[in-house]
Amino acid sequence: MSQMFPLLIGGEAVAAADATANLNPSDTNDTIGAFASGTKADVARAVDAAKAAFPAWSRSTPQERYEVLKKASDEVLARKDELGRILSREEGKTLPEGVGEAARAGQVLAFFAGETLRLGGEAFASVRPGVGVEVTREPIGVVGMITPWNFPIAIPAWKIAPALAYGNTVVIKPADLVPHSAWALVDILQRAGLPKGVLNLVMGKGSVVGQALVDHPDVAAISFTGSVATGRRLAAACVAATPMKKVQLEMGGKNPLVVLDDADLKVAVECAINGAFFSTGQRCTASSRLIVTEGIHDAFVAALVERMKALVVDDALKPGTQIGPVVDPSQLEQDEAYIRLGRQEGAKLAWGGERLNRATPGHYLQPALFVEATNAMRIAREEIFGPVAAVIRAKTYDEALALANDTDFGLSAGICTTSLKYATHFKRNAEAGMVMVNLPTAGVDYHVPFGGRKGSSYGPREQGAYAREFYTTVKTSYIAAG
Ligand code: ADP
Repeated sequence: MSQMFPLLIGGEAVAAADATANLNPSDTNDTIGAFASGTKADVARAVDAAKAAFPAWSRSTPQERYEVLKKASDEVLARKDELGRILSREEGKTLPEGVGEAARAGQVLAFFAGETLRLGGEAFASVRPGVGVEVTREPIGVVGMITPWNFPIAIPAWKIAPALAYGNTVVIKPADLVPHSAWALVDILQRAGLPKGVLNLVMGKGSVVGQALVDHPDVAAISFTGSVATGRRLAAACVAATPMKKVQLEMGGKNPLVVLDDADLKVAVECAINGAFFSTGQRCTASSRLIVTEGIHDAFVAALVERMKALVVDDALKPGTQIGPVVDPSQLEQDEAYIRLGRQEGAKLAWGGERLNRATPGHYLQPALFVEATNAMRIAREEIFGPVAAVIRAKTYDEALALANDTDFGLSAGICTTSLKYATHFKRNAEAGMVMVNLPTAGVDYHVPFGGRKGSSYGPREQGAYAREFYTTVKTSYIAAG
C-alpha cells in the first residue's frame, strides 16, 4: 500500500474519494504515493476557508508574515537534499537539479519574508490646496494558483510566497503529475505558523479542480503557469466572470539562441547544451531554436553533436546522470511525434531522438538535434517541451535577429557573441521578456522579474519586488487637511 496524501484545507488533512498514483518517470515500478484528487466541493470548501482567513491575515503585521515565511524558508533550506530527492523522483530532473530547485524555493521564501517589511506607499501633494494624496497597496483577497509539472516546488513557491507576504490567502492546485513537492511545501508553510485557511492545497485534475477555482466567484485572482491553450481559455473565463478576476499567465516559449561567427565556440556549445537539454528540455525558457551564422555553423554543429554524444541519460536519482527521463508517456509521445514531423518537414536529424532502455523502466529519450531546419517548420514554431532542438542557418546578424523575433512567443532570447556592438543591439531589439548574453536562455535569478511578451505571458511579471503588481491592488486616498 502506498502512502496516501490528503488535501490540505483549512489547516486540516482532508480525505478524498479518488486518488491519483504518482509514478517515478525514471522507474515506473516505483509508486511514490496516492495523492487525493479533489472535487468542485473541495474547492468550494477551500475557497470558503481562504475567504474566512483573509480579514485577519490581510491585517496581520509584516512581522507576523515575515516570521512564517522565514521559518518556512529555513526548513526548506535545511531539508533541500530530501526535498530535491522528492522532486527528482516525481518529475525526473536530475538530483542536482532537484536539490537546486528546492534550494531556490527556500531562497524565494526568504526574499518574500523580507518583502513583507519593504512594502511601502507614496505620498503626493495634491494639485488642490489643503489636500494630501496617498497611494497605498492592499492585498487582493483569495488567490487561486494553478501550477505546471516542470518546476514542482519553485513555481508554487514563487506564487505562494508573494501572495502571503502581501496579505492574500491562497488555494493552490499543483499539477496532477507531480503533487508531492507542492504538498511538502504547503505542509512546511502550515507548520511554520500560518493561521488555518490562509493556505489551502487541492490536488486533482485541471478540468475539475482548476476549472472550479476559475469559476468560483470568491476567488479574486488566478495565477497560472502552463500551456498557451489552457491559459488563453482560463483568462477569457476570468474576464467573463462576475466579479471579473485579475489574471496572470506564464505560458510557453520557443526561445532562440543566436550564435554569431565571432562567438567563443566553447561558450556557445555549453549554452546550447544547457539551454536546450538540461532538465530534459522541459523548461519554458529552453533554447529550442539555435540560430547560427554561416561562418561558425559547421564547427558549432560538429562540436555540439560531439558534446551531445557524451551526455549521460539515465535515472534522475543516479549519481552522474546529466539528463533524466521525460516526465510521462504522453509527453514522450509528443516529443517523438515532433521528431517524426521534423524529418517529414525536411530537417535533418543530426543526432539522437531515439528511446533508450536503462536498468529500470522509464521514459528515456536521447536528446535530439535537427540541422538544416527553417524557421517556418512546425518544429521551429511550436513548443515541443522536450530535449529537441533545431539549428537554423542565418547569413548575417540582421537575419539572425529577424529569425529570433519571428515567433509567436517572447519569453527568453539568447546571443553568443564577443561583439559588444551585436550584444548591445540584440539586448535592445530582441522581442522577449528576458535576454541572455553568453548565457543559456534558461536559468534566472529570483530577485528580478520573470516573464515574457507575445504568447508567452499575460499580466504583470512574477518574482522579485515586481510580484507586488499582481498580488496587491493600489488605493489612492485623498485627505483634506482641514
Ligand atoms: P502542461 O500540463 O503542459 O503544464 P496545461 O496547461 O495542460 O500545461 O496544465 C497546466 C496546469 O493547468 C495544470 O495544473 C493543469 O492541471 C491545469 N489545467 C488544465 N486544464 C485546466 C482547465 N480547464 N482549467 C483550469 N486549469 C486547468
